Amino acid sequence: MVLPITANINSLGHLEIGGCDTVELARQYGTPLFIMDEATLRGQCRTFMQAFGAKGIEFDVVYASKAFSCTAMCQIAKQEGLGLDVMSGGELYTAIKAGFPMDKVLMHGNNKTPEELALALDNNIGRVVVDGFHELELLDKIAGEKGKVQPILLRITPGIKPQTHSYIQTGQIDSKFGFGLQDGLAMSAVKKSLELKNVELKGLHAHIGSQIFELGSFAKAIEIIMEFVKQIKDETGFVAREFNAGGGLGIQYKAVDEPSTIEEFASVVVDGVVREAQHLGLPVPKIMVEPGRSIVANAGVTLYTVGTIKEIANIRTYVSVDGGMSDNLRPMLYGAVYEALLANRAQEKATTMVTVAGKHCESGDILVRDIELPHPEAGDILCTPATGAYGYVMANNYNRQPRPAVLLVNNGEARAIIRRETFEDLVRLDASIE
Ligand SMILES: *Cc1c(COP(=O)(O)O)cnc(C)c1O
Repeated sequence: MVLPITANINSLGHLEIGGCDTVELARQYGTPLFIMDEATLRGQCRTFMQAFGAKGIEFDVVYASKAFSCTAMCQIAKQEGLGLDVMSGGELYTAIKAGFPMDKVLMHGNNKTPEELALALDNNIGRVVVDGFHELELLDKIAGEKGKVQPILLRITPGIKPQTHSYIQTGQIDSKFGFGLQDGLAMSAVKKSLELKNVELKGLHAHIGSQIFELGSFAKAIEIIMEFVKQIKDETGFVAREFNAGGGLGIQYKAVDEPSTIEEFASVVVDGVVREAQHLGLPVPKIMVEPGRSIVANAGVTLYTVGTIKEIANIRTYVSVDGGMSDNLRPMLYGAVYEALLANRAQEKATTMVTVAGKHCESGDILVRDIELPHPEAGDILCTPATGAYGYVMANNYNRQPRPAVLLVNNGEARAIIRRETFEDLVRLDASIE
């Protein structure tokens, strides 16, 4: 499943998503344009809830909103019964504005500011996932000033390197995130948390990375964390009642990718925790997971209009589109790969090897390298699938490019859940000095 589940080709030979003709949407709303398929979004949420629900344990599926954060997406997660993970004051503010129940919100971040912690406390956020000693003391102090006791988890780096891009590995020893196990800092953090009056330690968290295909890395992390839970019990008497295994389940960007399923992920996580708990004589903790990418990535596609085509004989054909690194930074940031197709000629055979370039002033502004398309022409609508995660949220205004609109499509209806920026928006914060 690279494209959304509702994708098909209509009688005009156009790509259709959520019952909407994407070529018509491009004409109506302009390009670049993000399309999010509501059926895929809700379907992924439900598959997660059912897969963990079937296990008969206490659990929370917490949507990692950084993958795609906006009011409507928070509301979909809320309606589907998920919790929400926020990484910043801005993501928290979005959740508040979306009416998300705050007891189901978790706050992450390796350098939360005093203002962000205060906002979290003022809104009675469910959990703060504490990332370092400075934060632990800061949170205790601010909570004390507000006369509150904040429930927390501690983020532990288990010393695991999953097979994924090094920029999205987070569980290894050499990481800016969390308390290391190997150097004893994790145990010190537990003891410190238990001493402090204005935080209440509930359990542990580990997020080892993103776009992970090999579920063995999760199993290994679970083993390590559960052994640490036992060690904590032996040394302090404290029994951790919550274990958050993080996100990171991989998705299909290219047709050849073979990620694990949500059900397989649920089995590895839940069976692993239950097995370790039994083995170590511990109670089974409440299990949380934090999927981001696997909820939203395949629900989204981006549409562009093809402009300049430059054929360099015997070398390469550049097909330039009207977006690029301003709406999809992932190829430039860590060499992410995508499929591409022509939405207006979706049934035609791919015959021409091309490279899809953006419109920005960087040679590195390449969206898709070496992909076969039907011989492209100016005016074609080019679609890159699987752009629902870490796409719009990394969008920027380089070259003063207005950020695209995001449409939510379902049953033949399209709604703009994020409006396109205008030139006026771009100068809104500027001050004139004349
Ligand atoms: C990014 C992140 C996630 C979500 O990761 P995905 O790969 O998008 O599932 C979950 N938890 C934490 C702490 C993260 O940093």
